[in-house]
Amino acid sequence: MRPLGIFGGTFDPVHYGHLRTAFELLQALDLGEVRFIPAGQPPHRGAPSCGARHRLAMVRAAIADQPGFTVDDREVRSEEPSWTVTTLRAIRAEAPERPLCLIIGMDAFRGFTQWREWREIPTLAHLVIARRPGTSDPGPGDLRGLLEERAAAGALDLHAIPGGRILVHEGTPLEISSTALREMILAGRDPRYLLPDPVRAYIRDTGCYVPQPTR
Ligand code: ATP
Repeated sequence: MRPLGIFGGTFDPVHYGHLRTAFELLQALDLGEVRFIPAGQPPHRGAPSCGARHRLAMVRAAIADQPGFTVDDREVRSEEPSWTVTTLRAIRAEAPERPLCLIIGMDAFRGFTQWREWREIPTLAHLVIARRPGTSDPGPGDLRGLLEERAAAGALDLHAIPGGRILVHEGTPLEISSTALREMILAGRDPRYLLPDPVRAYIRDTGCYVPQPTR
């Protein structure tokens, strides 16, 4: 069974930095699927600007025409904060033998030791770390140690066992962030070509990211 890519995030909103990263990994690692899992209540940051229902709808709109991309709404449906370790345990229980590849950007990896039960996470899945412009590799310490201990030689390593390896992926560097997009939209500028047209249309139609006038 080809590995399952798991791509969690706030996706507030989803953009081409996410989508291109997922697409390159689908191909480069010969993944069977990349599953986008929007966080309901992300525990490591402030409340998202846009509600979970909207963020989920934008991810659905963004991936609709890409075979192999799927969306999983379990974290949005849950009443609990979106702990990655909880989600991974649930997916592992559903697919005990399947290689799982948790996809995260280097910026997220640098904060990894703040995640709940972070030492457990690489035992449940492989980690695939996407480089991100402006974020360097971690310096000496726990994370550097983890990278060295668990380094995968290549994609084949990720197919061979269900989890436990770490691969740093050199993709196309795209300096796009949801924060910059929110600021752009708030300032009345058009985010076109930084995110898919259906997402742009959704934002325009719903007024997400633009403060609603008080009546
Ligand atoms: P924000 O600016 O609101 O923090 P973001 O653009 O970082 O948002 P998230 O939804 O927080 O987007 O990111 C989900 C995952 O995708 C994270 O692991 C993040 O590191 C990764 N990611 C986001 N943007 C990129 C990008 N341009 N290139 C590579 N990885 C990215």
